[in-house]
Amino acid sequence: MVIVMLGPPGAGKGTHCKRIVEKYQLVHLSSGDILRNERAGGTELGKKARQYMDSGKLVPDQIIIEMMVGAIAAAGGNCVSDGFPRTVVQAAELDKELAKEGKKIDAVVNLVVSDDVAERRITGRRSCPVCGAVYHIDTMKPKIEGYCDKCKDQKLVQRPDDRPDVVKIRLKTYYEQTAAVVGYYTNSGQEVLDINADKTVDDVIGLIFKKIDSLVTGK
Ligand code: ADP
Ligand code: ADP
Repeated sequence: MVIVMLGPPGAGKGTHCKRIVEKYQLVHLSSGDILRNERAGGTELGKKARQYMDSGKLVPDQIIIEMMVGAIAAAGGNCVSDGFPRTVVQAAELDKELAKEGKKIDAVVNLVVSDDVAERRITGRRSCPVCGAVYHIDTMKPKIEGYCDKCKDQKLVQRPDDRPDVVKIRLKTYYEQTAAVVGYYTNSGQEVLDINADKTVDDVIGLIFKKIDSLVTGK
């Protein structure tokens, strides 16, 4: 099963993907996390991506397509793609690559939130640099303020691109380049499951499960 998760930065893609992969036994492929790992490992790919990520721009299509098509193949086509595709070119390439294997996307989930909510979620996001767990300073607090629940004395950090000036550019980039991906799917006959993500995590994940279940069982 291939699920694609769409939504602006801060919509809750990563948070809800973690719950989806548990329920449907899929591999979580986050293009942002893969890029951050490449950067941490000092790879060529990481070096190429750095300037784009830090300025809130998209990494060029060719680099991302190669990286994500490879990751999806390695996951045996059983995955949730979080943050990919982010352009119409990427979406068309993903369809083409899946078709080569006789596969197609099973569900496109689109998290819909207002800019206000997205901005508050991103600027309050904190994560653990060791295990990658994600928290929020208001809505998903760790047990001890500023420290990871799992890695105990590990301090949480703010992603450099989650600062307000870069966040504004990332939201602009989303409207200029990524919002059109929803239209691409609708026009190509792929149903898009719009989810009101302006609710609690439990409410949002409940809506997502209900829609995916009905798509899978046809009920
Ligand atoms: P968020 O979770 O806040 O939406 P991500 O962690 O997914 O952000 O992505 C961080 C950055 O990585 C993006 O701003 C962009 O520079 C780069 N990136 C991630 N996915 C893609 C993609 N599919 N195409 C181009 N750039 C990407
Ligand atoms: P994305 O991957 O779309 O950029 P994240 O899943 O990282 O978004 O969520 C952004 C921030 O908002 C995180 O700090 C997360 O803890 C918080 N968050 C995510 N979903 C919700 C929700 N439904 N209600 C409140 N806070 C949320």
